[in-house]
Amino acid sequence: MQIDNIEIPFGTTGTVRSLAVYRFGDTSKRPQLYVQSALHADEIPGMLVSVHLCNSLQKLEQEGRVLGHIVVVPCANPIGLGQSIQGVPLGRFALSDGSNFNRSFADLTQAAAARILGKLTKDASRNAALVRAALQDELQMRPVTSELAALKRLLLSLALDSDYVLDLHCDGESVPHLYTATSLVKRCEPLAALFGARAFLTAEISGDNPFDEAVSRPWTELSHMFPEYPIAGTCFSTTVELRGEADVSDILAAQDARAIIDFAALNGMVDQALPVIPKAQCHATPLAGVLPIMATHAGVVVFNKAPGDTIHVGDEIARIVDPVTRQSTSLCSTISGLMYARIPSRYAVAGQRIAKIAGEQPIRSGKLLSP
Ligand SMILES: [Zn+2]
Repeated sequence: MQIDNIEIPFGTTGTVRSLAVYRFGDTSKRPQLYVQSALHADEIPGMLVSVHLCNSLQKLEQEGRVLGHIVVVPCANPIGLGQSIQGVPLGRFALSDGSNFNRSFADLTQAAAARILGKLTKDASRNAALVRAALQDELQMRPVTSELAALKRLLLSLALDSDYVLDLHCDGESVPHLYTATSLVKRCEPLAALFGARAFLTAEISGDNPFDEAVSRPWTELSHMFPEYPIAGTCFSTTVELRGEADVSDILAAQDARAIIDFAALNGMVDQALPVIPKAQCHATPLAGVLPIMATHAGVVVFNKAPGDTIHVGDEIARIVDPVTRQSTSLCSTISGLMYARIPSRYAVAGQRIAKIAGEQPIRSGKLLSP
């Protein structure tokens, strides 16, 4: 086990933050798996999963059973972890500029295409190495002038070298669910089953370039741009929403770490008996098919449905009660599907998304992720 503490530049005077990176196995070997937790900072379950994962990987490494190279970043966002106002942790958005920590990662496709133009051959492995180097070189030459931008570049740089990338998040209150590119659904199905995912949301472009897309989408797009040349080992990535933000326990974390190690074994990175993949609890549905339930006015939220509930058209999801006028508004679903997440608060403001339902048919376009 190797632990690197990488300094994040551009901190304010007198402050130096660093990113802890755990490495297991031979760093020159492939496949490479990259796992990061808490990119949104105050999404805690993944941090404990990382602890269990590193403990297990350390033991496996001592037994000579880590075959590939596995990288774990337990706290992907030291900047966000430092954000709190009067004792209340504030993740998801950077206080410095209001941006979502998991948006606006570098889109490297076009520049990488220019770098590999005329260099590809019929050698798929060599082409993959060319793509990897082009993505990395392009990323490194882009100017960075803030601590936040430096952190994003560092995280993307660590992941870009990988064959498999898992970005561990959580929702407010939710059942396990995953996001991945439509083109990666087949490769993601075993992982979704191992995590016990109840929803599995897919889009080729979900908008604003979140981390998982920034890592894998260039590979898909470059394959389409140069169809006459094979490219081996196109990168797989997914965002895993483990459960709700308060679903933190050693039992759950051990279970999730086990799922990651089983996934690593399935893909040749850990030497162990291949796991029995549990029966899938859902199939892939379009991210564009998700119905956000919106509060029509401010008030107390009284939920009638919970994450994991099957929803039918017309079902009342919640009532919003104005405590002053004593009027209440019923919020009903216009689609059938599975309610997979809701907010942890029981007060909402007008226009706030208070719950999400995964449906089968696309009903939205444009930017598909929550703000
Ligand atoms: Zn998140």
